[in-house]
Amino acid sequence: MFNFCKICLKEFEYHGIFKKTCICNSCFKQFKIIDQKEKINGVITHFIYEYNSFFKTQLFHYKGCYDYELRNIFLDRFKYEIKIKYSSYIIIPIPSSKKDDEKRGFNHVEEIFSLLNIKLIKAIYKNKDFKQSDRNKQERLKVKYDFSIQENIDLKNKKILIVDDILTTGSSLRSAIELVKSKNPKIIKALIIARKLD
Ligand SMILES: [Zn+2]
Repeated sequence: MFNFCKICLKEFEYHGIFKKTCICNSCFKQFKIIDQKEKINGVITHFIYEYNSFFKTQLFHYKGCYDYELRNIFLDRFKYEIKIKYSSYIIIPIPSSKKDDEKRGFNHVEEIFSLLNIKLIKAIYKNKDFKQSDRNKQERLKVKYDFSIQENIDLKNKKILIVDDILTTGSSLRSAIELVKSKNPKIIKALIIARKLD
């Protein structure tokens, strides 16, 4: 079977377990898989890739140049594994700047994870619209005060998967975890596509 790679646009042959892949092997090899699991605020957090220059470029094309077709490439070969593992969970994405979403016409994280066909709720929202890069370090540490969780949302005894594209300082993830915890779910896990390793 043949398909066109969504990254290099070349035709490639695929078979076997990667039947549904949309990226060729030479592009796939440029992602650095780390498959790390780490507890953050008591929550097992799974990281798939390292945020290397290849990942950064692809994310920029998708998020910064609005190449919507690229939403498929990030979970690609992990999609089915994740779908099976978290089919009974509710996905809650970490919100990003509303202004950027409006400019882009889509929220990049929601679009990636909606491909899993798992229930997704935008339970967390930003109080004020700040961009992380516009803040100084001290302001970034106070980021938890900028997020809120929907007042009437019922997450009691539910299984929650918090998701995001990249982890940098971890402060957004920690605040999201604390907000979700306040709603007494049965279990919380987190899945972050790429992590910055310094
Ligand atoms: Zn390719």
